[in-house]
Amino acid sequence: YPWIPETIQELSDTAAKEKEGASFDIQVRTKGPLVTRFPPEPSGFLHIGHAKAIVLNEYFAHREPGGKLICRFDDTNPSKESMEFHDAILHDLELLGIRPDTTSYSSDYFQQMYELAIKIIKDGNAFADDAELGKGDEDRKNRLPSKRRDLGIEETLRWFEEMKSGSDEGRRWCLRARIAYDSPNGTMRDPVIYRCNATPHHRTGSQWNIYPTYDFCAPILDSLEGVTLALRTNEYRDRNVQYAWFQNALGLRPVEIWDFSRMNFVRTVLSKRKLTRIVADGKVWGWDDPRMPTVRGMLRRGMTVEALREFMLVQGPSRNILNLEWGALWALNKKYTDPIAARFTAVAQDNAVHCRVIGADAPKEETVAEKPKHAKNMEVGMKKVWYKDTIVLEQADAQSVEINEEVTLMNWGNAIVREKKTGENGTVSDITFELHLEGDFKKTKKKLTWLAAIEKNLVPVTLYEFDLLITKDKLEKDDELEQVLTPVTEFKTIAYADCNVAELPKGSIIQFDRKGFFKLDDVSPPPPGSTGPVFYNIPTGRA
Ligand code: ATP
Ligand code: MG
Ligand code: MG
Repeated sequence: YPWIPETIQELSDTAAKEKEGASFDIQVRTKGPLVTRFPPEPSGFLHIGHAKAIVLNEYFAHREPGGKLICRFDDTNPSKESMEFHDAILHDLELLGIRPDTTSYSSDYFQQMYELAIKIIKDGNAFADDAELGKGDEDRKNRLPSKRRDLGIEETLRWFEEMKSGSDEGRRWCLRARIAYDSPNGTMRDPVIYRCNATPHHRTGSQWNIYPTYDFCAPILDSLEGVTLALRTNEYRDRNVQYAWFQNALGLRPVEIWDFSRMNFVRTVLSKRKLTRIVADGKVWGWDDPRMPTVRGMLRRGMTVEALREFMLVQGPSRNILNLEWGALWALNKKYTDPIAARFTAVAQDNAVHCRVIGADAPKEETVAEKPKHAKNMEVGMKKVWYKDTIVLEQADAQSVEINEEVTLMNWGNAIVREKKTGENGTVSDITFELHLEGDFKKTKKKLTWLAAIEKNLVPVTLYEFDLLITKDKLEKDDELEQVLTPVTEFKTIAYADCNVAELPKGSIIQFDRKGFFKLDDVSPPPPGSTGPVFYNIPTGRA
């Protein structure tokens, strides 16, 4: 293993140097095909931060033939985990188009890890501890040895068995690695490697009363499963030395670690605990709500897998602390949607104005024409545009025009405003347009969207726009969730859409002229209080 530092000390020194800001060569030292792993804990749905970890792991695993991506469910804490989350994560991976070469479970290795715990005890490298929770943490903070640090091998084995039996007495104990209680690196101060939990496990039921901690589990399973590059987020940076210590102490094959920075976005929480609260408190419709930074939420909102993937790869495994703007991601998304999104028309229903169209070219009866769905991409296909001598206009547009002004009716041609009736409150109730089809649309200031007033051409739809869930750019540790939640994040418009919209396949990404990009919802049940097909506004990164 040419990349492995000579000593653990060297690893420690490298970490210290990087902390001081010394530049770091981001080269992977392991040569040849790589085996990587994505280790989700089945305690929530996948979010955009996980997407970064997945995309990077997948990239390194499949960048040359012979590599392998393992999805290992890190299911060692039955209090937080469930089969529901497990299934949700598998589905999320599918949505992202990620096919792991192997799916495994930390829980498959409970027996093996138990045996390694016995080994580490017998080697004199672990001790049982019964310091009260909290009190024990004080010792670590103050770099003091636990009272039980010198507990012998036999006694430790006995207490470990007591823990395993699930007895009341056993439950008071934990198992600690005996590393260095006075280390400047907190993770080396005799970390807990086994703890008790009486909650039944979603896969192993009540078979076990003791569970390995992440610190113990990760270095063991990475080594046993043949991982050659362990990508971790750099909040684990200090743990790298500890990770290597366990592999060394247990005589396991060492594994190269590469840590990259956690991805964060402004005005967004990615903590599973907080996301769970937002869902449980009914601030959103569920984990797949389009406002949620989950994989499902984002795809439902109109993010494309292609854009997500490109974004993550451009970010790469850099170690800069990131608090990203959403705009960059949505702008990249537009690059994928704009060239292929079909264009349609929608008109807000609220106070919509029925207008008359007169002149020699005005249709005597309903007529229909075929028009391209996308002016610059004929491959998107054709749509029907209906014409009639009564058209429906949005109130705001109706208010904006002046008598004798020449405007352009989109997909039709120019027209001159001949009459306009405005009520006392400023609401427009009636307009008469005289068609002027020989007029130059390049010379008009206003391009208006309109719909022929024919029942089948006034399809009721619900358009949603959203605000971000959080008011603060960056959450601090002691911020109360209640205090930083945006009070209103859902803005709903009931609109009429043209007849073509009734036939759109669910999940379509389209553009409503002058309104922006939208995704036709493909999740049921529909959001509460919606009418007809539901569309979500897709940000384009301009705002
Ligand atoms: P916990 O804090 O409870 O461990 P987690 O957010 O790390 O939760 P996991 O399911 O353990 O969730 O994460 C699986 C993988 O995804 C881990 O390798 C983790 O480092 C990575 N990951 C999680 N959040 C982010 C993020 N914001 N940016 C990049 N990677 C992340
Ligand atoms: Mg984790
Ligand atoms: Mg977390």
